[in-house]
Amino acid sequence: MSKKVVLIGAQWGDEGKGKVVDLYTEFADIVVRYSGGSNAGHTLVVNGEKMITHLVPSGIRKPGMKCIMGDDMALDPDVFKEETGALRVRNIDVSPKRLFISSEAHIVLSVCKLLDGLREGASGNRIGTTKRGIGPTYELRAARVGIRVGDLHDPRNFDGLVRGVYEKIAPEIDRLRRDAMPKCSELVEELSRAREIFLPYVANTSKMVERACKSGDNILFEGAQGTLLDLTHGTYPFVTSSSTIAGGACSGAGIGPTMIDEAVGVAKCGYMTRVGGGPFPTKIKGELAEQIRKTGGEFGATTGRPRDVGWMDLVALEYAARVNSLTGLALTKLDVLRGIPVIPVCVAYKYKNWVVKDFDDLDAHDLELVVPVYEEFLGFTEDLNRVCRRSDLPDNVKRLLGRVEEIAEVVLLSTGPKAEETIVFRNPFAEVSDARTF
Ligand code: GDP
Repeated sequence: MSKKVVLIGAQWGDEGKGKVVDLYTEFADIVVRYSGGSNAGHTLVVNGEKMITHLVPSGIRKPGMKCIMGDDMALDPDVFKEETGALRVRNIDVSPKRLFISSEAHIVLSVCKLLDGLREGASGNRIGTTKRGIGPTYELRAARVGIRVGDLHDPRNFDGLVRGVYEKIAPEIDRLRRDAMPKCSELVEELSRAREIFLPYVANTSKMVERACKSGDNILFEGAQGTLLDLTHGTYPFVTSSSTIAGGACSGAGIGPTMIDEAVGVAKCGYMTRVGGGPFPTKIKGELAEQIRKTGGEFGATTGRPRDVGWMDLVALEYAARVNSLTGLALTKLDVLRGIPVIPVCVAYKYKNWVVKDFDDLDAHDLELVVPVYEEFLGFTEDLNRVCRRSDLPDNVKRLLGRVEEIAEVVLLSTGPKAEETIVFRNPFAEVSDARTF
């Protein structure tokens, strides 16, 4: 029987999804990346060499695996070209026989990137975007003038499509920097280039997913960024422009919710990170934060920005478990906290005179004002890499996992960046209990 599993970030992104996707990929026949664009990045290791993919699903590493870039994605043709080129150099097959793009995905135009950069450069409220043009692309989509990959079929329509974009975007660009707006003819040329890049890959991906389900294939739906950055359910307005939650897999893959079997959330264990603007109740500063940032390599995969670091927030995690209906949690990077004597875990917030336990009882501005209530867990000094079974974990780690499991079942614990540094408690694709590797 086919298993359909959605994997999402349960925090603010950068939870280490890339590694878990890689592990689950071994059991999947198809991977579907369903939302976002090149504002997200997965770190993967190919032949011992680290590389970052922003658009192409990391499942591309597995020979023969089909990879789909879904309906709700925002695709930058230059990034796609560069990424497929870099993968080809590493002898990875990126041919249209195994890589498919939905005709409903939107194209990130250069003017969207220009506008993103001008906005972030202007004074005022900063969301802290990656300046990859993703926000403006989704704005054009909502305004019904966005250009979709499927629009590239007929160049006779390019003039009309470009005019729609121009009318929407030119006034703001002109206001931010006079004469920066390119001519319509340049945008038409850009579409012709995008046509050459994307068209070979265009497919009816919704139909492909349905067919795959019926023929018993296992499917992994890969979310980008994290739950707390979701356009609707994140810490609005400090959010991304797309759906990052498990439910987004339905819209972004062109299927219904009854199709999905499991939703697994990835979260760092014991600490968490955030980049960009917005509230971060458990954020810490100083030497300990610096130590965790360094040990955990907490610098943005897309921008290289240092990530803010804080303790694990179970108020936020419980919320993530709810809005994603998580059936499991994959916990990563616990090894980073080795040697830290006490690990505080946030279990509630104090806000004015109240104790708050539901993340969504407060908005982003209230969250700036809360004081976290911590439960303290003793740390560990043991090398977790030597541990093969859950039962062999240090007692202090077991106590921490037990507390997290009040929220959702822990299905995997990652104790290092390598595949073999993983303890699998339960594999959502195939029942494997307490085995060190798949
Ligand atoms: P993603 O976007 O969620 O995949 O997150 P990142 O691209 O930021 O990846 C996280 C980084 O942490 C990568 O360099 C991984 O190799 C690394 N990583 C993943 N799991 C672990 C772990 O359990 N321990 C350590 N130390 N590093 C890990």
